[in-house]
Amino acid sequence: MIELRDVRKTYHNGVTALQGIDVNIQQGEFVYVVGPSGAGKSTFIRLMYREVKPSSGDVVINGHNLAEIKEKEIPHLRRGIGVVYQDFKLLPSLTVYENVSFALEVIEDSPKKIRRKVMDVLDLVNLKNKARFKPDELSGGEQQRVSIARAIVNNPHLMIADEPTGNLDPDTSWEIMKIFEEVNARGTTVIMATHSKDIVNTLKKRVIAIEHGRVVRDEQRGDYGYES
Ligand code: ADP
Ligand code: ADP
Repeated sequence: MIELRDVRKTYHNGVTALQGIDVNIQQGEFVYVVGPSGAGKSTFIRLMYREVKPSSGDVVINGHNLAEIKEKEIPHLRRGIGVVYQDFKLLPSLTVYENVSFALEVIEDSPKKIRRKVMDVLDLVNLKNKARFKPDELSGGEQQRVSIARAIVNNPHLMIADEPTGNLDPDTSWEIMKIFEEVNARGTTVIMATHSKDIVNTLKKRVIAIEHGRVVRDEQRGDYGYES
């Protein structure tokens, strides 16, 4: 469902962040993206929701070549992809409920159905009782759970996470990973860039290692492979 063919990305400053990238990811896979800082991990995952355009090569998502889709089709592409960031990116003036409902595609839904969808995902991340809270009234782990609820409320086929546990303590990180596994078990593909050796070596999944802009390792049930 995700196919990168000979992808290269050179930014406008002349930095080549990725080159010679050939990767296939099937629906339902769980993939860690590992490698040193500056290796190209963020660029790799940002290609998939067209936050970054390749300089050459193709990125094909569910049969759509992202180079060929029109500007006006990008919202549709992105609706099928939930994104989770290291720093949560919640809207501070909105409540938990509003942060999630704001992301919901509501074209045809009745108010009742909207409420049910939002409360269902808040239930999944165990935050139903904090629906009226504002982000600054929550712990880091709770804020990350809100951002996961926001990412999955449209029932995406793909969830992308860029170091989602980077700002969290180990216990909280494991809670977040449990939710990711639950989302994946429901059929959503998960692609997660991470620096957590513990997580990668404990919850064994496919590991794609990137160094100097190239894939240097791609293993099922792989190891983290770096010291920290
Ligand atoms: P694109 O080719 O996708 O349009 P650009 O090279 O124009 O990408 O960069 C996109 C944005 O990222 C710009 O606003 C730029 O200021 C910013 N940016 C530039 N250098 C870096 C960097 N080293 N890390 C992160 N962002 C950067
Ligand atoms: P990682 O996520 O592994 O730390 P990145 O994909 O963020 O790696 O960065 C790969 C390389 O591309 C780095 O040299 C970085 O400075 C550069 N880079 C990232 N984003 C931009 C940008 N928008 N504009 C210019 N250079 C960038």
